[in-house]
Amino acid sequence: MAKKFEKVIKKLKIDPRIFTFKFNCDCTGECCHYGVYTDSFEAKRILRIKKKILEYFDSSQCTDVSKWFEEPEEDEDFESGVAIGTEVIDGKCTFLDKNGLCTLQKIAIDEGKHKWKYKPLYSILFPLTIYEGALTIDDEHIDRLKTCNPDPKTEITIFEYCAEELIHLLGKRGYSELKKYQEEYLIKQNVKKKNV
Ligand code: SF4
Repeated sequence: MAKKFEKVIKKLKIDPRIFTFKFNCDCTGECCHYGVYTDSFEAKRILRIKKKILEYFDSSQCTDVSKWFEEPEEDEDFESGVAIGTEVIDGKCTFLDKNGLCTLQKIAIDEGKHKWKYKPLYSILFPLTIYEGALTIDDEHIDRLKTCNPDPKTEITIFEYCAEELIHLLGKRGYSELKKYQEEYLIKQNVKKKNV
């Protein structure tokens, strides 16, 4: 059953655990070893630059374009209602190069465009995710990775760590609203603790 959350911003429910969950990462690209779900329009956008992608691929990546994506499936957490997974080839997302870098991001940077222009939203958001209409933590994926969040004793919360990603998702106004909610939520939590 979908969880109930009190705050909604831009039609997204907000899981307040993002305000207290501690997170840090010295990224090795391991999070890309399982591929990612793209929205069908993102997959189309990627295929539109397939020639460029092929120019960037190294010897560890699959040049058969027909093998880059899985079959589409219905999923309401995607804007179009259709999700398409990237294939995992030789233990990594088809777009991950042998140095642990995302080819889609490399191309955007080299073109002088925004670094996330071609990257799927769920890749941008991780370690956050959208599940059943709620912005939340992708615990399931974090838990199966060895190098992701190895030292959760850090003082940095996932909310602080992912500020850039959250601004990308919600826009500046949406992010300000989230920040306000974070402050109110933490005050309430502190009051509760004092009263225990
Ligand atoms: S699309 Fe890029 S960021 Fe996303 S899983 Fe694949 S390699 Fe990683």
